[in-house]
Amino acid sequence: MEKTFSKETNCIHTQQDYELFIQGVNTPIDPSSAFQYRGFEENVYPRYYNTINQKVVVEKLTALEKGETGLLFSSGMAAISSILFSFLKTGDHAIFYQKIYGGTFSFIKTEFEKFGIEYSFVEEKAPEAFEKAIKSNTKIVYIESPTNPLLDILDIKSIAEVSKKHQLISIIDNTFATPINQTPIALGIDISLHSGTKYLGGHSDLAFGAVVTSKELNNKILKSAINQGGSLNALDVYLIERSLKTLDVRVNRQNENALQIAEFLEKHHKVGRVYYPGLKNHPGYEIAREQMKGFGGMLSFELKADGIDQVNHFLDALNLIKPALSLGGVETIICSPALTSHIKMSKADREKAGISDGLLRLSVGIENVQDLQMELDFALNKT
Ligand SMILES: *Cc1c(COP(=O)(O)O)cnc(C)c1O
Repeated sequence: MEKTFSKETNCIHTQQDYELFIQGVNTPIDPSSAFQYRGFEENVYPRYYNTINQKVVVEKLTALEKGETGLLFSSGMAAISSILFSFLKTGDHAIFYQKIYGGTFSFIKTEFEKFGIEYSFVEEKAPEAFEKAIKSNTKIVYIESPTNPLLDILDIKSIAEVSKKHQLISIIDNTFATPINQTPIALGIDISLHSGTKYLGGHSDLAFGAVVTSKELNNKILKSAINQGGSLNALDVYLIERSLKTLDVRVNRQNENALQIAEFLEKHHKVGRVYYPGLKNHPGYEIAREQMKGFGGMLSFELKADGIDQVNHFLDALNLIKPALSLGGVETIICSPALTSHIKMSKADREKAGISDGLLRLSVGIENVQDLQMELDFALNKT
């Protein structure tokens, strides 16, 4: 279909053939779990990932991610587990960047051993570090960029090249960047996946996962995914279609707001370090500028007064901005990694990972940026 249109257009128009048939400008929701088989080429069934609602959304995502096809799942972790278990078997080895999403990290730690799958975590960002970790039984390389919560930037193109050179399958979790800001497949990555629960859904009211890749790799994932059964229902799939229509508008506003807030926080006397790949002093700035169209809506910062009490005072003084888990919605939310995602780590281990008690992660929404700044300024001056 119209893969040459720009992203803004593809968010709205990729179901033209279907529109012609039914005349409405939106795809009708077909909640059927039983489909007629006589006279049709394909046996349709929700868990075969081939209903019309699934296909329409996959087509949109495929156009945005510049892949060939894809699949939708009932959560980001369903996508991740289905992908990993479709390419790995007993005796294989997989390479992961160490600072990947906590849920993925614990999936590897708890599930891989049961199946005799080996793994290495790479601590450094350099592509050479990934090459060094390759063994004779290595099958995949799995990365994230930007990462949670310190927004590390990896050189996607170089890591994809290393993977290709050694005939490994390269996978990226593209959740933080979104396909609006980053198209890893165009940089040589084989598989791009999402926790759609975050930016793709964008309204903090949907949980789903998505993958986009080549037809060949997708067929392999599909075989395994059918067995694992993490498919999504038609009503939620329709809500994704609706969400995607505003993805470009939302993400561009989030990019603008986050950059302004990062620059504001950097100058604030109550704030220590600010982590945002769009700031020139961020170690990943140059690479981010090359591989991203926008720097994203996620940033982290440290309170100068570094203590859990100060963090709580600061959070108490906020009004619009709610302390909440998850990210990527239209509303700005804030979270203390030390008190949430990294609470199970010892303070010493947290500090080694760069997570101080005073670190706060901000998922910037689409509100008026001045309103957000005023509120942050008020709360900072109270700490
Ligand atoms: C939230 C998240 C996931 C997991 O997605 P779920 O929809 O919660 O299963 C995976 N990767 C990243 C980067 C995430 O932020």
